[in-house]
Amino acid sequence: MSTGDPGPSQKSKKRAHDDSSQVKVKKPRSAKSKGNEKLDHWPQYFHLLFKVYKALNTVLAFVTSRKQLATTFPSIRSSVENITKQPLNMSQVAELKALLPEIINFAYVPHNQLRVNSVHKSADEPDFSAFSTSRESLVLAEEPEHVLLLEFAESWKGVPGGTSASETGYLLPATRTLAATTKLVEKRNERFIRAVDELLSATPPTDDPVSLLQAAARDHIPVDPKHKHKLPIDESAHMSIPNPQDRASVADILAEIKVQEWYKDQIMDQRTVEAREGQTGEIDEPLSATIQQALKNSRNITSLYSHQAVAIGALNSGKNVIISTSTASGKSVIYQIPLLRLLEYDPHATAIFVYPTKALAQDQKAALENLLLACPGLEHIQVSTYDGDTPTDLRSGIRSSASVIFTNFDMIHASILPYEELWRTFLKNLKFFVVDELHYYSGMFGSHVALVMRRFRRVCAAIGNQSIRFVSCSATISNPLSHMVNIFGLDATQIQVVTQDGAPTGSKEYLIWRSPYIDNSDPQLGRESGIRQAVVLMVFLMKRGIRVILFCKIRKVCELTMKTLRTELSSEGRHDILNRVQAYRGGYSAAERRQIEHDAFTGHLLGIVATNALELGVDIGALDAVLMLGFPVNIASFRQQAGRAGRRKRDSLVVFVAEALPIDQYYMSNPNELFDEGTDDLIVDLENKIILEVHLQCAAHEMPICSQDKQYFGPLLKGICQEKLHRDGEGWYHPHNKYLPLPSKHISIRGVQEDKYVLVDVTKSVASARILEEIEISRAIFEVYEGGIFIHQGRPFIVQELNHDSKLVKLIQVDVNWTTKQRDFTDVNALQTHRIREIKGSPHHAFYGRVEIFCQVFGFYKMRHNIVLDIVDVETSPWIHDTTGLWLDVPDFVLGLLRDKSIKPASAIHSAEHAFLNQFSLASDLRTECKAEEKEYLKKESRRKRSARLIVYDPVGNGSGVSVKAFEHVSDILHKACIAIKNCDCKEGCTKCILSPLCKEGNTVSSKAGALVILKAILNEPIDPDKIPYEADEKKLKGHDSIVSASPVHTKTAQKLVVE
Ligand SMILES: [Zn+2]
Ligand SMILES: [Zn+2]
Repeated sequence: MSTGDPGPSQKSKKRAHDDSSQVKVKKPRSAKSKGNEKLDHWPQYFHLLFKVYKALNTVLAFVTSRKQLATTFPSIRSSVENITKQPLNMSQVAELKALLPEIINFAYVPHNQLRVNSVHKSADEPDFSAFSTSRESLVLAEEPEHVLLLEFAESWKGVPGGTSASETGYLLPATRTLAATTKLVEKRNERFIRAVDELLSATPPTDDPVSLLQAAARDHIPVDPKHKHKLPIDESAHMSIPNPQDRASVADILAEIKVQEWYKDQIMDQRTVEAREGQTGEIDEPLSATIQQALKNSRNITSLYSHQAVAIGALNSGKNVIISTSTASGKSVIYQIPLLRLLEYDPHATAIFVYPTKALAQDQKAALENLLLACPGLEHIQVSTYDGDTPTDLRSGIRSSASVIFTNFDMIHASILPYEELWRTFLKNLKFFVVDELHYYSGMFGSHVALVMRRFRRVCAAIGNQSIRFVSCSATISNPLSHMVNIFGLDATQIQVVTQDGAPTGSKEYLIWRSPYIDNSDPQLGRESGIRQAVVLMVFLMKRGIRVILFCKIRKVCELTMKTLRTELSSEGRHDILNRVQAYRGGYSAAERRQIEHDAFTGHLLGIVATNALELGVDIGALDAVLMLGFPVNIASFRQQAGRAGRRKRDSLVVFVAEALPIDQYYMSNPNELFDEGTDDLIVDLENKIILEVHLQCAAHEMPICSQDKQYFGPLLKGICQEKLHRDGEGWYHPHNKYLPLPSKHISIRGVQEDKYVLVDVTKSVASARILEEIEISRAIFEVYEGGIFIHQGRPFIVQELNHDSKLVKLIQVDVNWTTKQRDFTDVNALQTHRIREIKGSPHHAFYGRVEIFCQVFGFYKMRHNIVLDIVDVETSPWIHDTTGLWLDVPDFVLGLLRDKSIKPASAIHSAEHAFLNQFSLASDLRTECKAEEKEYLKKESRRKRSARLIVYDPVGNGSGVSVKAFEHVSDILHKACIAIKNCDCKEGCTKCILSPLCKEGNTVSSKAGALVILKAILNEPIDPDKIPYEADEKKLKGHDSIVSASPVHTKTAQKLVVE
């Protein structure tokens, strides 16, 4: 075997990107030096330790070769002793751990975490053992017993070379051969030799390497959490968490990070945004004494920041205002103060405050109520929430006596405008209309909201109120004025834009963090998982009293991270910290979320692991650090999340933990773009005929439409009215009969609300079951299947029973150290052609029609980290849904061209689809078939073949007609996509050409060159085969070809369609 230099090929190329530390251990060594002649210079003690290590290595390797069993110190002790003929004690293992900290795991973990199935089932035999286990043993004990785990950490990533990959791309240790195991043992032995050599060469002549090692080992003797109270006094003192008020500075923390044993130059980029002094401003007309007093008493506000003063002044002079400044710059004061002022003079004045989520509305309502209570003379002012949860019997009282309502656009669309006559007094007196978080309204939802706003202004004008002032706040966005104009339909000259931020901020340190190699000397083993890195950092920060929020991109990662944190903190015996960490994501019940928000706000929580559900401004108090696990959806999100840290005038920390995904890699190489690039423009489409029509039906119901309404609804009004609405004898338009009696019922502005499954925790008993959460059917299909693990607050639950009729899922809490991952496939099939369109300058066509989405979960893997423990089959019925979409067939000759260059057609098609969507402004409202790495880059041939076809479709049940729009502009979009790729300087793709933050599979299956060939071919542009580069990525070269030529899709009753 050649375990020496990796040779000049692939590997050395990879190394060139790395820092030099990996290369330093490049010394001649080979398995042939098994005789210890090279080790003559070692002190005798290390030879003895080596003997122990070799025995341990052999035992662990062979125990795990058959099956990924968790190994504990007591369980392997005697086997090791049998080989060494001497007792194995904990201090020796601790010394080995000190020598090879990244390779050996040696810690107490909860006993139940080690449960795996001891009997191996064959792949086609369903495994029910997990839930045939008796109820008693599954129930989580209050204080789990801990066992001492001892294993090699690197098996978490699997061991290349010796193992054969499963069809999933994960490693199946059960298949490790004898030869592979022997090789693994030798490799690990060499690592020991290198580690000792490094220690010896690093030890100054005045020091004794053996005592150094033994001293270091003392920190590695695991502590059983059960005995933690027996620790010496000084140890417990060390373990208390500093008060976040007294925490160290970020600079000190960073210095401390850099000397940790786990710090291996992960910081790839670091930059500081300096602290900024606050700037105050004056308003022309001073506030009344009572308002000043109220501000001081309830908020401790004695002066206004410059941006607040400018905005309040503008509102005073009758203008509309859009404020786009940083998070926590005191934006709400801007509309609260003018409201108080107004109410002082006009007790009948009313106001509407709109927030995108109920949580935000509740948060802000409480703030306003406090302010009113502190304001003598205004204490009686009634502030009410008016949302879907407001009981019907309270609604009329609110209409007649509330001065301010906190509501959302759904309610305005469906509950206020259709019943205008009930709201007439309120609307006549309406003086302020406030929309917070304006950036939230974009894409299809934004387009609906823009039309609701036009209906609203039209109704108010008709009842004689033309003096409403509109105020809106937004995160920092590229073009706040045009977005305000688009959403409200106001004249730009009536709007004052405020972007100069006068609020003070503390300094903020940004780090870009790259996971280190599992083993520096063997990059092929890959890098440590981002989750582990994030958890290590988070634990480190929390121990120092730093309040942290960790953002994860998806719910599942959020839970896996919480689970890892749980294990980590509990094995360290840090229940004091664990009790102050919570996960937060969509799906949790409103009550649970409010509780977490409250705990965060009051400072009880030290850490939150969240999805972007916490990105919006619910006040969760002062946080010191933000960690982002993976690049969030876009730059705007990145900044929004970063803005969660550093509320007061204190320094703060933002760490972007980059994952091994193309977009993360891109920003790691181009960090400037994270800080310098503008955010994307927010898109609102006012000319989508399908959406416009339903809002016109609603508007006509609110008040018959005439030609003058063009001022609200634009030039398409006439045509749609003539075609789709009902005209009376006098020329007024009324809703079409099919929309009556209530047109607003025909559309939900957030798209179709899916059926939900109720997840019930029946751990204790069915009688005392409690609802854990509710999830949409499109999630349920992939997340809950019998025998699978569902995680909630980082705690695993096993799905005991799933009833599709009652939509009820019963779960039992278990404490296992494996998770499950569904085995599934999704087919997106073009079923029927409705329209055909010419592609300019090309003989090829674009098609639009019926598309079927077919999802099937047929089993799951039991996984421990990245290793498959078991393959389980389940029988579930597929989830089939019809929608509409557009498709483009890839010309046949392209497949040949791609294959000649070893480019996978699947990669090229996937990238071409994203390249296409990237040039379409409403892409976030479309879907495409995302391809997963584990299904495309593997040797095993799949029976499933797909047509060589680009396909994008409307989300199921959305019916918004966005794909028609793409179809109607298909030539333009294709040209733009082609030009974007040609002109892009990036090497393997970036978000400006082929990568998409919306890709469900993280863009891992992609080919920039392949996408270009496809787009050129469809556009009939010349292609020079010599200029197509060969695919060089070894991972991509592996793998079957899953694409076959596309054949035409039938039309309805075989009619001949006219090419448009
Ligand atoms: Zn690019
Ligand atoms: Zn994708």
